[in-house]
Amino acid sequence: MPELPEVETTRQGLLPRLQGRTLRRIVVRNPHLRWPVPDDLEARLTGLPLQALDRRGKYLLFGFGTGTQIVHLGMSGSLRFAGPGEPAALHDHIDWLFDDGTTLRLRDPRRFGAVLWTDDVAQHPLLAHLGPEPLTSGFDASYLHAQCQRRTAAIKQVVMDAQVVVGVGNIYASESLFHAGIRPATAARRLSRPACARLVEAIKRVLAAAIAAGGSSLRDYVASDGELGYFQLQTRVYDREGLPCKICNTPIRRIVQGQRASFFCPACQR
Ligand SMILES: [Zn+2]
Repeated sequence: MPELPEVETTRQGLLPRLQGRTLRRIVVRNPHLRWPVPDDLEARLTGLPLQALDRRGKYLLFGFGTGTQIVHLGMSGSLRFAGPGEPAALHDHIDWLFDDGTTLRLRDPRRFGAVLWTDDVAQHPLLAHLGPEPLTSGFDASYLHAQCQRRTAAIKQVVMDAQVVVGVGNIYASESLFHAGIRPATAARRLSRPACARLVEAIKRVLAAAIAAGGSSLRDYVASDGELGYFQLQTRVYDREGLPCKICNTPIRRIVQGQRASFFCPACQR
C-alpha cells in the first residue's frame, strides 16, 4: 500500500514535468474507483494550467486555480508517465493529457483509490479533520503529549490515527516505536513528555529516511519506463518476528493490535 513516503516521492517525481502545463484532455476508462470519478472532471479541468502539486497526508492535491483535483492511491494505485502512443493496460483507468504531449496515467488494480474535485480543499470532508503533517513543526512533543493524555488506546494506535497525525502507517509506526524505545501496546496516556519527544523525533527521522530512499530512485523513474520503484525500508523490527534484534540480539516479537501486526524488541522497548 502506498504510504506517505511513496506519495511524497510520487509528488516530487511528477512536479517538474507537470507544473505549469495546461491540461488538454482526460480519458476515464473506468470511473468506478472507491468513489465514482466526477462526470464533469474533464469539463472543469480542460484548458487550465496546473499551478501547484501539493500533498496532505496521503492525498495528492493538483491545484488548477479554480479548484483542486484530489487523488488518493488507495491500496494499489500508482501514477506514472506513459510513453508516446503507449497503449493502456487492463488496470490503467485514467489518463491526463497535457499540452506538451505528456500523459499522466493512473493504474489501480484494486480500485480503492480516488480521483475527486473540490473548489474548497480546506473544507473537504476527507481533509478537514486531518491532524498535522508529521514533518512540520506543528507535530512536536507538546502536541503529541497533549493528544496522548486524552486517549485510552495503545500508543501505536494513537500515532496511526490520522486525526492525531497523518501518514504514520503500520510499518512506520512499528519502526518509530522501536527507535523511541517504547512498546507498541503501552497505554498512550502513560507516556511521559520525554517519551513523546523521543517518539516525535523517531517518526520524523523514519519518514524522512524513507522519502530520501524514494527520492534516490527518481532518476530511474523519470528516465526509463516511468514506473515508480516502490522502495523497501531497511526495517529494524517490522516483519522480523523471531529474528534477532539488530541492536541486542533478542528475538523480535509480534503481537496483533487492532487487527494489524505490531513488531517490537522486548529488551530495547520497555
Ligand atoms: Zn533489541
